[in-house]
Amino acid sequence: MSTAATQQDAAARLDAVRARIAAAAREAGRDPAAVTLIAISKQQSDERIAAVLAAGHRVFGENRVQEAEAHWSARRATVPDLALHMVGPLQTNKVREAVALFDAIHSVDRPRLAEALAKEMARSGRRPACFIEVNTGEEPQKAGVLPADADAFIERCRTEFALPLAGLMCIPPHDAVPAPHFALLATIAKRHGLASLSMGMSADYEAAVTLGATHVRVGTAIFGERAPR
Ligand SMILES: *Cc1c(COP(=O)(O)O)cnc(C)c1O
Repeated sequence: MSTAATQQDAAARLDAVRARIAAAAREAGRDPAAVTLIAISKQQSDERIAAVLAAGHRVFGENRVQEAEAHWSARRATVPDLALHMVGPLQTNKVREAVALFDAIHSVDRPRLAEALAKEMARSGRRPACFIEVNTGEEPQKAGVLPADADAFIERCRTEFALPLAGLMCIPPHDAVPAPHFALLATIAKRHGLASLSMGMSADYEAAVTLGATHVRVGTAIFGERAPR
């Protein structure tokens, strides 16, 4: 595709997703402006990323620190209003880079990571907003704190680690109806007075908005299919 065609395509997809978010929000009696659209740029080409930037979008998400640095470190300097969200699993040995690059981290899911984040925030003075990931489907291979352990972990993140907690995040099981997972996440967040809910991807972001998502993480519906790693 020519650069112009790629740009038109990106702008059209972005408009379509924004319109569907707004419609779902209004239908649920919510303010569309209360929903942040995070464009997930993992495994996308430089040309497509440039096209979504050219269309005016500024909020992006990645799931690997190194790839995020490749996509965004240089652009940070030229796009000052960029907001970067880490949505993938985070290893403690990548915490320094993650705190330096990201404005929000959606995958806080264990005490060792929470502690490492707290230490690095104190050292660097940077305080990215933290979301605690909840494994709502209780899938053994998936990251996230189990729902039964969520209350205690949220309290520890608040009191012991003093993390700047924004809210909760979940990724429902691939083959499940997502709504009950979104509802469970909203219930846990409400119990703790947490305002932000990171939930909903390309296939289910409207359902997530209906159930209170404040952050939807949309990749392929904006960029097109991802390249294999
Ligand atoms: C890749 C990814 C997304 C985006 O997925 P799409 O189905 O392409 O919208 C959202 N959240 C997380 C955590 C991801 O890793």
